[in-house]
This record gives sequence, C-alpha cells and structure tokens, in this order.
Amino acid sequence: MSMKEYLKIFKKYPPSILDELISVCPFYKPCWRGSTIYKTIHDFARNRIAAKLLAEGYSIEIERRIEFGRIDILVGLNGKSLAIVEVKTGDVKLLQVAAYSTIMQLPALIAELKTGNVIVLSLEKSIKLLDELIKHLRDIERLKEKGVRITGSECYRCGSECENRRNRSGSLSLNTLNALNNIECVFDQLIEKLREIVKNE
Ligand code: SF4
Repeated sequence: MSMKEYLKIFKKYPPSILDELISVCPFYKPCWRGSTIYKTIHDFARNRIAAKLLAEGYSIEIERRIEFGRIDILVGLNGKSLAIVEVKTGDVKLLQVAAYSTIMQLPALIAELKTGNVIVLSLEKSIKLLDELIKHLRDIERLKEKGVRITGSECYRCGSECENRRNRSGSLSLNTLNALNNIECVFDQLIEKLREIVKNE
C-alpha cells in the first residue's frame, strides 16, 4: 500500500488507537479508562534512557511531534536520524509503533521495560503490520454491513452503547515501578542495536 493510504487510515484512526482496531466485533468502540499514574513511571524511564543515550554521544529529540502523534525518542548520530525508540513500561502497542516507524521511514526500537528486552521493528515489518491491519479493517467493514455483534472480552472495555457492554472493576497497583529495574539491561541492548544499525548503513 502507499503512504497516501496509510495517512488516510491515520486521519480516521490516530496511531494511538490502532491496536484497538484488531477487535473482531465491528461495533466495538475503543474507550480509554487508564490511569495517569503510569505516565510518571513511563516518563521517568524514557528520560533516564534519553540521558544515557546523550552521554554515549547520540543526539536525541524527546517527544518529537509528528502529524499523528509523538515519538518517545528520536535517536541520531552525526546529523543523521537512526531510529525511533519507544519506551514501554506497560503493554506494547505494536501497531502504534509501526505507524510511527512508517511515518518517519525509520526502524523502531521498542524498549520493553517489563521484560527487559529490546525488540527491533524494521521499517519493512512496520509496513507489513499496517497492511495486515488494513485487510482486517476491510473484513470488519463487511461484518458491520451485516450488523453482526460479537461478544467477548472486548465488551469489558467497549465504549459503544450496546446491551452487551460490561463494566470492568479492578484496582490500580504500582507494580509497574518494577519495570524501572530493567533500565540498565534495556539500555545495553539499545546501544547494541543502534551500533548494528550504524554498521549496516
Ligand atoms: S459491547 Fe461487545 S458486542 Fe457490543 S459493540 Fe461492544 S464489543 Fe461489540
């Protein structure tokens, strides 16, 4: 698909909600019920990693604004952009990262603090993910025309006015703080991956 088609999708569905679109019920409406306490933990992890990258001689731009969102860290070297780094202390929204990678035409490094891993999402893989999403949206559109509603776990986080909608109860915990223990290990892997990108250029 062309960049024009991707941009058309992002205009309708911003990258931050793309991962919600892989639901199977065509009437599912994403509804964000998260807590803002996790933002502090995320920003803390991102800024610690950013400071370390700077100390290693990389150039960085934090929260780079792009047309349809913000990138956690844009990393460069010698005046050239190398990759985007998305720091995740909770769940990874893979399609959101794929969208940013495609918009920037750069690979993405996902620093997953929860597991201590860094996942490389190449530009080719980002495009593949978006193409699969577009195919799924077409299928869902056909189901919608038929008026099919499909119940399941999505009903617990759905914002649609539907009789099947359910309320989810739960308590917030600060277990996410444990993710900060993995900063050093994630940082070492990030440096390794960035060196590989530079080597392969
Ligand atoms: S509540 Fe469930 S069945 Fe109803 S629209 Fe939402 S996801 Fe579909």
